[in-house]
Amino acid sequence: MKARALLVTLLGLAALAAAAATWAPATVPMPVFQVGPHSWYVQGVLEDASHANQGFMSNAGFVITPAGVVVFDALGSPALAERLLAEIGRHTEQPVRRVIISHYHADHFYGIPALRAAGAEIWAPAAARHYLHSEAAARRLAERRGTLGPWLGEDFTLPLPDRWVAGDESFELGGVRFALTHIGPGHAPEDWVMKVEPDEVLFAGDTVYAGRVPFIGDADTGAWLRAIERLLAIPAKVLVPGHGPASHQPRVDLTLTRDYLAFLRAEMARAVADFQSFDEAYARIDWRRFADLPTFDAANRGNAYNVFLQMEQAALDGRGVASDPHSTNQGD
Ligand SMILES: [Zn+2]
Repeated sequence: MKARALLVTLLGLAALAAAAATWAPATVPMPVFQVGPHSWYVQGVLEDASHANQGFMSNAGFVITPAGVVVFDALGSPALAERLLAEIGRHTEQPVRRVIISHYHADHFYGIPALRAAGAEIWAPAAARHYLHSEAAARRLAERRGTLGPWLGEDFTLPLPDRWVAGDESFELGGVRFALTHIGPGHAPEDWVMKVEPDEVLFAGDTVYAGRVPFIGDADTGAWLRAIERLLAIPAKVLVPGHGPASHQPRVDLTLTRDYLAFLRAEMARAVADFQSFDEAYARIDWRRFADLPTFDAANRGNAYNVFLQMEQAALDGRGVASDPHSTNQGD
């Protein structure tokens, strides 16, 4: 009787596994870095999502405690998240208990189904609910089905968390304290960050670009600056961004990003007030302070132009550039 029960259980588990594995395995390299006594992250490539990189172009963190693992961000497909579970399994036998999603952009939450199948409880910031029903979300899903179809699986739909969390929150697992702080709207309306208190490691999602000129795109730079101020208020030894390598001098990197954004806003506001054209203003501005930074040549002119348009719009509206809490940036 006991053996039969066991057999039934095993058959049930096999059926579950077969039902879950509707996606192709991810085969790209997944480099793992340790950044604190409990804290690790995997680092995606600095590219757009493509068939070649299988969508591994964002980071995810994991924190190993004696009572289980906490994961920060779910990567861009169930296949990548399953691969992340395998990498975690090389360092601990502890199960993943909880997953924190920094924001609802495809490359950070599409991996949820694999983590849930492994038994983890998924938490996401409540403000992300707006995204799920947006046109941007539908367009992004259609694009990713085309680019990453095999690794999403045929049945893939936008995954929900188990819990929408409004406000800040802290919790403890295996004697390790975690603090979740909302810093959005910045890169996305709902951005929040996770600090691993004993390690002084801050998983910061997409708000920070370490050691380089950021790509501003259509981001609201005023809201972004306020998000950076909130990040600066959280002391940390190491900051793990959503893309690219960890920063071991977070204050320096954050201050750099902040000063760059503030400089662009001040200069472009002046140009608009003086009725200068963008080209006149760009030629007049002394860029020496930032010209030696990585990606300056690739990003600066476009960034400056976007901020010029924002300041022009703000002048037309007769107010500062306001942030729309319901806007849904569909970027990564
Ligand atoms: Zn993002």
